[in-house]
Amino acid sequence: MSRQVIAAAGTALLDERRQLKPEELADLAAVPDTSVPSLAALAHEVRLAWCGPEVEVEGILSAKTGGCPEDCHFCSQSAQFPTQVQATPFLDTDEVLRAAEETARLGASEFCLVLAIRGPDERTMTRLLELVPLVRDRVGINVAVSAGILSEDQARRFAEGGVHRYNHNLETARSHFGRIVTTHSWEERFDTCRLVREYGMELCCGVLLGMGESVEQRLELIGQLREVEPAEVPINFLNPRPGTPLADQRLVEPLEAIRWIALFRLGLPSVILRYAGGREVTLRDLQTMGMTSGINALIVGNYLTTLGRSPDEDLQMLDDLRMPIGVLSKVL
Ligand code: SF4
Repeated sequence: MSRQVIAAAGTALLDERRQLKPEELADLAAVPDTSVPSLAALAHEVRLAWCGPEVEVEGILSAKTGGCPEDCHFCSQSAQFPTQVQATPFLDTDEVLRAAEETARLGASEFCLVLAIRGPDERTMTRLLELVPLVRDRVGINVAVSAGILSEDQARRFAEGGVHRYNHNLETARSHFGRIVTTHSWEERFDTCRLVREYGMELCCGVLLGMGESVEQRLELIGQLREVEPAEVPINFLNPRPGTPLADQRLVEPLEAIRWIALFRLGLPSVILRYAGGREVTLRDLQTMGMTSGINALIVGNYLTTLGRSPDEDLQMLDDLRMPIGVLSKVL
């Protein structure tokens, strides 16, 4: 049975070159664990056929850490929970430039400035609009920004100011969101994603799996991502942070993580699907398998509040897999 379901998905995606219907994805989500490697193999083939062999490498820098007024239950940067993260002010220009240079040296084509805020105030807008062209021109790297919920005017100014890609995560399905965040709505996130696209920036719209959502809700999330048409989808797995309401949540199991990496690829065949936070603790020895299950981009170095493995290990992994580092651009 699973063999037929996987073969039919292959025909749709590789021969007919069409997106899968929601019911086809639901059938794939139900294959037994023993079929996950076959699912992953198809996802890899689909990634090669729709996106090519290159892997994109990106560095992220937490330009303003902690002290966020929002209550996202997974986040150690929320000021509402007793976590270890200390609030720090905006990094100075030299620190940002140094981090961008280091990221470029690793071969990365994208550098993302991340701020733990609900949305940017005027001071933050001004600061970011100074930094973006400076980093791009001095370091020669594309600059992405992640600064929370935007108004229409702010989206326009970022687009005009040279922000190449804007990150704003949906995090989880609309039907699950109210259990994870109460200080802003899923719709506010969705609207910001829409504005980013409307003003011509690339949308990077990530998910965080492992927050108690059901299989149906993960499938719902894939459908909602299709609506916002992201260029890139970072896949994060919950790495439960002490002090947060999700501190005792169990980790996604490695094979389950591979299953969902493959399903996100099969549901979103043309996106840049990026390995992001939580992959080391979640996948353990299966990290390399993720690269042949549909992933085609990596965040290297440290994540915002947790340490990633060393960039050298990741670059070695890509070399061992004979996967070239390249710049990906969206083709829809
Ligand atoms: S996820 Fe973002 S908005 Fe939510 S608490 Fe953390 S930094 Fe604030």
